[in-house]
Amino acid sequence: MIININPLRPEKDGIRRAAMAIRAGGLVAFPTETVYGLGADALNDAACRKIFLAKGRPADNPLIVHVSSVGMAEKLAYIPVALLPIIKRVWPSPLTFIVKKRTRLPDSVTASLDTVAIRMPAHPIALALIKEADTPIAAPSANLSGKPSPTDAKTVVKDLKKSVDVILDGGPTFFGIESTVIDLRDFTLLRPGPFTPEEIEKTFGVKPRIPTAAAADETDKPASPGMKYRHYAPDTKLVLFTGRIGDLIDTFSTIEKPVCLLASKETCTSIKNTNVKKIILGSRNDGYEVAKNLFTALRSIDDLGVDLAVAEAFQENGIWLAVMNRLRKACGNVELSSKEDLLELFFTKRL
Ligand code: AMP
Ligand code: MG
Repeated sequence: MIININPLRPEKDGIRRAAMAIRAGGLVAFPTETVYGLGADALNDAACRKIFLAKGRPADNPLIVHVSSVGMAEKLAYIPVALLPIIKRVWPSPLTFIVKKRTRLPDSVTASLDTVAIRMPAHPIALALIKEADTPIAAPSANLSGKPSPTDAKTVVKDLKKSVDVILDGGPTFFGIESTVIDLRDFTLLRPGPFTPEEIEKTFGVKPRIPTAAAADETDKPASPGMKYRHYAPDTKLVLFTGRIGDLIDTFSTIEKPVCLLASKETCTSIKNTNVKKIILGSRNDGYEVAKNLFTALRSIDDLGVDLAVAEAFQENGIWLAVMNRLRKACGNVELSSKEDLLELFFTKRL
């Protein structure tokens, strides 16, 4: 069942119906300020197992538990007492904390780790749903495993219609990129997101440790299990160009084969070549705009009928750190930095 619902003043009736589905052990897709989530009662093991089945998610990739109050979080986990006043101030927000769990959570939610990921979403629909269900809601992004996260209900329908009991359609999400994940035990940034490292430092007075991409992806036991999985990649071959923008523009201005370019508005408008199928991510001066458009852009590559796509790289601070993290994963970490490498790719399509 799909229920249209006002994102700023959610109608009680829709929330009630979705909350009943959660209480009955069902699955509800709902908008948060980051992306759409696929939710189940976090205290109901059988319900949470349905999430893994619906998404095709590996059982060793734990879920984020969404709460509507700090008190609800404290029942599930040991929140460091010294940090409580700051957390009370900073939540609700797109900031997920890894903390030591209390025993009452099902193993399916935490993948049997002794920690749990918790956040309070800053979205009226998500908050109203958790409150009405009167239980914490475990919810990963509402997409098939490996695909980009959904930023609207239409995409949820495409991926998961068969397995969801209720979809709350509250329009597009606000940020369009998943929450920042930080391990509160040592301030390691496990996943960059809309809450930036600079904001974390300002809020907590601690500079977060940022693991290198290689350290995060390649160990057998990564600190955040989700990091080891292939994610966001289209079926079309996609590579990241990290070289000079001028070289990217020159090469694409003369290329004689149909090829897709995923780039900023500024780069796209400098290229007049009709062989280039452009997907505009947004302005190079607005990382939040690019973040918001990124997943829809990645999903649209496969509709273009080309066999190669190249993405522009951006700086790596603030929100751009999150954009680059998702882009790198979408490109399977295949990066090119020179005009020669780009040309070789076009002519041989070999990497
Ligand atoms: P998703 O909800 O699909 O956006 O993914 C949630 C992310 O949080 C994944 O990358 C998980 O691996 C990560 N995560 C969830 N629980 C934990 C935990 N206890 N420790 C470390 N990372 C976690
Ligand atoms: Mg996800």
